[in-house]
Amino acid sequence: MMPQGEKTSLKRGSILVCLLMLLPAANGRGAVTSLESDSLRVQVNNETGQWTLVDKRSGVQWPSDGTASPGNSSRLQGVFAASGDAQKNTLRLAGEKGGAVVFSLVDGGRALELRYENAGDETIRVLGDALTITDAQDGYAIVPSREGLLVPVKNDKAFKRMFGTSEYEGCHMNMLGFVKKSSALIVTWDDAYVFPEIERTVSGNEHKLTAVFELRRSARLVRLMPLGKGDWNTVASEYRRYAEGRGFAVTLREKIKRDPHVERMVGASNAKLWTCLNRRMNEESTAEESVKVQWTFDEAARIAEHLRKDLGIERCFFMMGGWTEGGYDVRHPDNLPANPECGGNEALADAVKRIQSLNYIGCLHDNVQDMYRDAKSWSPDFIEKNADGSLIAGGRWLGGRAYMVCAPKQLELAQRTQNLSAIHDLFSPWAYFVDTTYAVPPRECYDPTHPIGRNDDIAWKIRLSDYGRNLFGIFGSECGREWALPHSDFFEGLVGVSGHYYHQLKPEELGAQVIPFFEMVYHDCQVCYGKYGYRADEAAEYVAHHVLCARPLHYHSFPDHLYWQSRPEKRANPSADLACYTRSDNGWAEGLHPYDVFLKNTHEVLGAINEVTAYNRLTEFRYLSDNGAVRQAVYGEGDEATRITVNFGQTPVEVTSQTGGRTVLPPWGFLTESPRLIAFYATRWNGRDYPNAALFTLRPTDNKPLKDSGSIRIFHAFGPTTLVWAGKSYEVEREEVIKPWPQ
Ligand SMILES: [Zn+2]
Repeated sequence: MMPQGEKTSLKRGSILVCLLMLLPAANGRGAVTSLESDSLRVQVNNETGQWTLVDKRSGVQWPSDGTASPGNSSRLQGVFAASGDAQKNTLRLAGEKGGAVVFSLVDGGRALELRYENAGDETIRVLGDALTITDAQDGYAIVPSREGLLVPVKNDKAFKRMFGTSEYEGCHMNMLGFVKKSSALIVTWDDAYVFPEIERTVSGNEHKLTAVFELRRSARLVRLMPLGKGDWNTVASEYRRYAEGRGFAVTLREKIKRDPHVERMVGASNAKLWTCLNRRMNEESTAEESVKVQWTFDEAARIAEHLRKDLGIERCFFMMGGWTEGGYDVRHPDNLPANPECGGNEALADAVKRIQSLNYIGCLHDNVQDMYRDAKSWSPDFIEKNADGSLIAGGRWLGGRAYMVCAPKQLELAQRTQNLSAIHDLFSPWAYFVDTTYAVPPRECYDPTHPIGRNDDIAWKIRLSDYGRNLFGIFGSECGREWALPHSDFFEGLVGVSGHYYHQLKPEELGAQVIPFFEMVYHDCQVCYGKYGYRADEAAEYVAHHVLCARPLHYHSFPDHLYWQSRPEKRANPSADLACYTRSDNGWAEGLHPYDVFLKNTHEVLGAINEVTAYNRLTEFRYLSDNGAVRQAVYGEGDEATRITVNFGQTPVEVTSQTGGRTVLPPWGFLTESPRLIAFYATRWNGRDYPNAALFTLRPTDNKPLKDSGSIRIFHAFGPTTLVWAGKSYEVEREEVIKPWPQ
């Protein structure tokens, strides 16, 4: 189909790049230009702009059949006139309606960039044809939304969904991955006005997966990076390389250098008191509907002391909500003084001091985006405006109807002397949390005195993050976005929501599977948790997901006051599979409050897994069973790697343990093996059967690899108490330090 012509090429460094202006086709329409590097070859019809991209390492072409459009908009209609620049590996096609599209090889010849000029205000739709995947090619798309979605072509659920840049449960990284015929490709972009739309159509037995990129307003380019043969692991590792070049991948080690307290976040569970003072206002914020003190500041500190002393929780990220005047999120952003109902400024300062004397990270929960009509500093001047000048309202929360503070005004308010700096001076928490900042979609404001677009909104929120982090040392916000990684330390909500993988998105409606893609790209870069409360007696799948992601849990449903001193009604059925982590039979937490049982069991497992993986990426993710139920994640590489296997299925499965041989995992069972950690919830391990399953962890106390260690702490959560190690049997009810070798 492509006409043949003479080739000229030029070498630049080690990367072959060439631009060929080829002769017109016999029908007189469509001379073809070729752009080529070591990894790809693009052929573009100079008159129609139709193009193809060949991944030279795999031989796979995008699109598989026919050619791809240069983009759809009225300015790109008609015939193009071509001009090339061999030095820049660029072909520019000027359309007769005024628009132009520029094809360039960028990133050392690794990627093809499509850039649009003179597009005016028009929205351009592109790549819908280029990225089509059908049954014949087999394959899938990877969507970086929270942990990540794998959307296979072969599924009978038809759907169409926009995953807008930085939207709530949209694309949380500026990329999408595609694999067909075992050949991988990444699409990247920079602008928050890019709106990718993924669609699966189903016709009888035929399935088709497409991704259209809608480029609105300032969004004028996309890049395609073919990766050769590969899968999701290739997409993740190549994207990490790219993200490092863009400055996103600031690692935890670098963040610890920035502020040494970050090290205390490694392996730390997230305890959050929600909310100390719980006051609910009416819609207009004029009348109180209910008010309740759930914890005084003294009680908050006593809970932290209970976790440390009674439960032996060494690492905890301890957050308090509702400390503000009025209670969260009443009368924001006028926070001070700390509310007298819970004890006032002095009691809060004392609580933070006591919490941090346990070496826990003390954190206060704030919000500078929502403003209420009863706030002392309420002014419409701060609020985002619609194009008609009306105020943009937010959600109906405890404080009443919230109004959205425009991002530059958020920073202005946060920087007032009575806001963050006064809070820092009074209470000195090591960490600060500003709610909703990373969670909401990028904003637009039409107030003539502070107009912003989506990219400005992100830029202002980055400044707010830097301000908060420089003041307190550790900074985080809700959900999490890639652009926030260099400017923050933790995300609350990335890993899951309310005991589920997503908040509103339903993977099953997309015929999609959740994969730990975020961990494959950024595990070593950020402290991450889920958000909102959930039921411990239904949490087994949620715990299994956190095991695979190597992330500690969030505990946001603490009972009121000094809860462990009272006996709650028993409603859990610990024998049900989904309630397994509430068990304490014959184990460490037997007889303790149910909330503490779940917290201790899961902290011992997830905190330990996070500690041994925190400085590594998830380097290899794979399915060990055809039905996708048995999943394995390897963090790090070589002898130091941590291997995590989890059974997400409804029936027991047998896996092979490097240290314990034939191992049987019940539903939601797992096995983690690392040089310095073994943890399992299994019905068989190391030659021992555990009817009804047992949960153990083994960690050296001398920091030697377990196989060489002369001192190993064994933790037993529940189930039969016998553990076999190095050929010897030990009975461990709660915890023991064993000495496997003669000293
Ligand atoms: Zn504004």
